Amino acid sequence: MLTNDQLAAWDRDNFCHPSTHLGQFARGEAPQRIITGGKGVFIEDRDGNRFLDAFAGLYCVNVGYGRTEISDAIAEQARELAYYHAYAGHGSEASITLAKMVLDRAPDHMSKVYFGLSGSDANETNIKLIWYYNNILGRPAKKKIISRWRGYHGSGLMTGSLTGLELFHKKFDLPLSQVIHTEAPYYFRRPDPAMSEAAFTAHCVAELEALIAREGADTIAAFIGEPVLGTGGLVPPPEGYWPAIQAVLKQHDILLIADEVVTGFGRLGTMFGSDHYGMTPDFITIAKGLTSAYAPLSGSIISDRVWQVLEQGTDENGVMGHGWTYSAHPIGAAAGVANLRLIDTLGLVDNAGHVGALLTERMRAAIGDHPNVGEVRGEGMLCAVELVEDRAARRFLDPVGQMSGKVVAAMHRNGVIARAMPQGDIIGFAPPLCLDADEADQIVAVTARAITETFG
Ligand code: PMP
Repeated sequence: MLTNDQLAAWDRDNFCHPSTHLGQFARGEAPQRIITGGKGVFIEDRDGNRFLDAFAGLYCVNVGYGRTEISDAIAEQARELAYYHAYAGHGSEASITLAKMVLDRAPDHMSKVYFGLSGSDANETNIKLIWYYNNILGRPAKKKIISRWRGYHGSGLMTGSLTGLELFHKKFDLPLSQVIHTEAPYYFRRPDPAMSEAAFTAHCVAELEALIAREGADTIAAFIGEPVLGTGGLVPPPEGYWPAIQAVLKQHDILLIADEVVTGFGRLGTMFGSDHYGMTPDFITIAKGLTSAYAPLSGSIISDRVWQVLEQGTDENGVMGHGWTYSAHPIGAAAGVANLRLIDTLGLVDNAGHVGALLTERMRAAIGDHPNVGEVRGEGMLCAVELVEDRAARRFLDPVGQMSGKVVAAMHRNGVIARAMPQGDIIGFAPPLCLDADEADQIVAVTARAITETFG
């Protein structure tokens, strides 16, 4: 068996890690963690340390770790048929079953699902299908996509452009010119502290209308947004936001993509965030919670009205020229089927709503009055603590990101994994949906202690 030192050296010498400080890592100055196993909401590393994973990996291990129902389904599928493609009408029992299960759970007006591998490629598919749609309709100029600052939609060329975070643009020559950004629906960071929530929603709508007027509605194809801003800060929308935004989009014949990579399959206490906020999207992006990350699989759920047009395109042009080798991979599909069944049998959508509310409520009770806590916010099994320099003055910490890094490191030393979100001092929590009340209390206690230790 390899020693830990040997593995660590191989890791530094050979492995280019995603979203990692490359120089520090290669020099051995950044944390290096080798994870070996997990059960429920806990994971273990190679040194035998156990952690409560309050971010469910990258908010994706929704059913928790170590579910043999899913690993058995994967093993069985691998033995029977590890792979066949889905081109030209091919499928497997698992992929066909999963498509039916996804549509049974999706809002009524959705019609079909296109399977990919990652949230990024699913959003790429959405944009391509939207361009295809407008070309079929004879609107070749209607192609731009509106995204929000602080939105997260992936890190490819197009999807990294849709993402509205500096780190994903700077030094990568992004965003591409077809992508334009509008105001983030982030009430805590509103431009005028005196603004009510409703007034801030009106401000976001006015910004969107001004952008559409500047660019011309006949050049804009779609608007993409997460029901709750995720990586950009775990921010539920201000009052009335989605109905008001949708009214503007409808008026200008702009399609809506609900990016539900985080919110899909229960995280907000409803099957989809679209159900939660009364959204009627033309596309829904799904990934993480579709398989709880037991195997890579994503999807673009397509509405009936868009589907009717896509069908006409293939009548004119033959096959739709868009596909991945691994679209609807049978192993991912088998994981998805077992995962969605487990979510139902364990009642995890309801649990996410109840225990999630408890987590945010107890977090607020424990640290809401701390002078360096600007806000505790949450929706379903998502919770965030925004740290500030001065709460009364709403002054943010400078330099940005240092204190949240320290708090998360202190939490790690005390056995709880949280995430310091980019572009702010925001401690993020997105535990597996099976979290129980005692585990929620453990997260709160460790967070409170880390904040007190860090700020005094
Ligand atoms: N959309 C959202 C809302 C996400 O949170 C993410 C990933 N965090 C993605 C898309 C991209 O997914 P992936 O990393 O699987 O490409």
